[in-house]
Amino acid sequence: MSFKMKYEITKKYLTSKTKRRSGTKMPTVKFIVAHDTGNKGSTALNNVTYYENSNNSESASAHLFVDDKFIYECIPALTGTPEKAWHVLYNKTKDNELYGCDANDAAIGVEYCYGSKINSAEAYKRYVWVMACICYKFNLDPKKSITAHFILDPERKSDPKSGLADSGRTYEQLLKDIVLEYEDCTKVETPAPAVVDTLTKVIFTVDNKAFDGFMRNGSNYVPASALKEKLGDELSWNNVTKELKVNGILANTIFKDNINYVSAQFVISLGHKVAPDTANKKLYIS
Ligand SMILES: [Zn+2]
Repeated sequence: MSFKMKYEITKKYLTSKTKRRSGTKMPTVKFIVAHDTGNKGSTALNNVTYYENSNNSESASAHLFVDDKFIYECIPALTGTPEKAWHVLYNKTKDNELYGCDANDAAIGVEYCYGSKINSAEAYKRYVWVMACICYKFNLDPKKSITAHFILDPERKSDPKSGLADSGRTYEQLLKDIVLEYEDCTKVETPAPAVVDTLTKVIFTVDNKAFDGFMRNGSNYVPASALKEKLGDELSWNNVTKELKVNGILANTIFKDNINYVSAQFVISLGHKVAPDTANKKLYIS
């Protein structure tokens, strides 16, 4: 199974061994915490720049910031060996109840940037996609592995409910959309079936001369030039529109091996008689 990489994830790591980025590896990724920045109009880059500029004065952090144009990863998660970020207070117990560990030790934190000049709908698509991508990368069930900051710390936090509400979306919708996105990005594309043409002999009863034709999807095809040669039909080719007319009638053609073919049905419509002998792969035209 593979995952459709619809968007680019841009590395913009904070300086390591700082308060915001300790550099401590995360042994296993068990779940995802959905956040929003709580700061309408501040872009992914604004946030990462602010984090970097204050990397030793404050400790709060998250792995990814997503807006309508960029997905920035400032603590390694998808683009490098995952490290811990500080996005949920350690003294909160809901994460331990739900997943048996602290979010900071085992969860990727993803921040939604929204509102003002940020196209919230475009940002939302990337936000949904990147969480589906994290599920894929760390083999997480997208139906069970996403929680939210407001669930883990309800007294202090409302994100990402509040950010999503800014564009008329709900957290419940987000959960459903992540599952749909995961399914879409992991579905196996079945290639279109190869066209198999069966060679046939097109025989003109006027002198029993045979031409090569073929059968495709149950229909017989005849080289257009043979109609002119054997039945005196008038062909006109428009080199601009790439259209063929036979006796002034526009033909639906198949161009194959440098030859234009028309269907037996079209030959009948010109007033000729067509008698197929399917068992012997022959077609008689008179
Ligand atoms: Zn948060």
